Amino acid sequence: MMRPNLFYADLKDSYLFFHISQKVQAYRQRHPDAHLYRMGIGDVSRPLCGAVIQALHEAVDDQASSERFHGYMPECGAPFLRAAVAEHYRRRGICLSDEEVFVSSGASDELGDILDLFDRDSSALIMEPAYPAYVDANVMSGHRIIHLPSGMDNGFVPEPCPEAAADVIYLCSPNNPTGAVFTRAQLEQWVRFANENGSVILFDAAYEAFIEDESLPRSIYEIEGARTCAIEICSLSKTAGFTGTRLGYTVIPRELVRCGMSLNGMWVRNRTTKTNGVSYILQKGGAAVFTDEGQRQIRENIQYYKENARLLTQALDEIGIWYCGGKNSPYLWLQCPDGRGSWEFFDYLLEEIQVIGTPGEGFGACGRGYFRFSTFGSREDTEEAARRLVRLLK
Ligand code: PLP
Repeated sequence: MMRPNLFYADLKDSYLFFHISQKVQAYRQRHPDAHLYRMGIGDVSRPLCGAVIQALHEAVDDQASSERFHGYMPECGAPFLRAAVAEHYRRRGICLSDEEVFVSSGASDELGDILDLFDRDSSALIMEPAYPAYVDANVMSGHRIIHLPSGMDNGFVPEPCPEAAADVIYLCSPNNPTGAVFTRAQLEQWVRFANENGSVILFDAAYEAFIEDESLPRSIYEIEGARTCAIEICSLSKTAGFTGTRLGYTVIPRELVRCGMSLNGMWVRNRTTKTNGVSYILQKGGAAVFTDEGQRQIRENIQYYKENARLLTQALDEIGIWYCGGKNSPYLWLQCPDGRGSWEFFDYLLEEIQVIGTPGEGFGACGRGYFRFSTFGSREDTEEAARRLVRLLK
């Protein structure tokens, strides 16, 4: 009999968002006319910027022209986009060759696929609270998972410790859900630790564009020694509104070698086997993000979300609730007031002021008693949600 991948039986139900939607649905049935303020969403609300839309239109026209038509694309990415991404890093003082950049269909796809590079018997360190896909992708791959909890005492930024010596180390900065950002000194510690132990860091930089404090690293390659121990996974989803359009990129330096095998070379082999490249049209749209005009326009959208963050942090300050994130990140992570549990606080906000957030325990056991707000909603809803929070909790 065919034996399925039995590791799937070890997956826990993805209970968080299902449970939220059930609760919201039940509330809607009881209050069909109520407006709900969705501060839980991780999806963007601003449309793609003009420079991207124009490039997408032009690329569609190319596909209608026998001279400019593109069929299969190079599996590792179109040369024009690999070059644009490498140049984008160069402008920030990070030297990469175009061949170290791989175009992807988004960070989620890549975070799952990249596990092909690691042995079945690998261990994976996941610092919690964490983006739930890290755990699930490693369960599916049969990896041993080491959960490293973090908390208020370390600002939700854990330090290396002997138990953390895993084969694969996930670092997400700015973090989803906590909004915490690793400082240069903290990343230096992790890079040293990974090099000493032969680990590989998977650096999830999906939210790097939200870092405004210049002293904070936006890329792991700002840290000396990272080229021998880190893969960086990036996304245009939150940076440029590509959540529904799908595009990202991954950096694998040539110096990243384990057991004599180049991970860059292995990934080339993987991509040339498992993909036929990302759509030409989308890659043209993506390249527009890295032009001067594209950068200016995406900044406007990011500033819009940052103003939402300012409104919410101002409300939390006024109420006197402990939180982190919000400044260099689109997420705010708060301690539920009055000792309430995450789900209790969720129900309270929904019932009393129709504000929806995300209960912290959905991101790992140490998220119990915490709550996440996202700043990706509309300005109108965020303003009203902030007003309602102050009225209810002050
Ligand atoms: N990594 C983190 C930390 C995320 O929060 C998300 C999406 O919310 C992703 C990756 C996935 O991004 P993408 O839309 O590129 O798949």
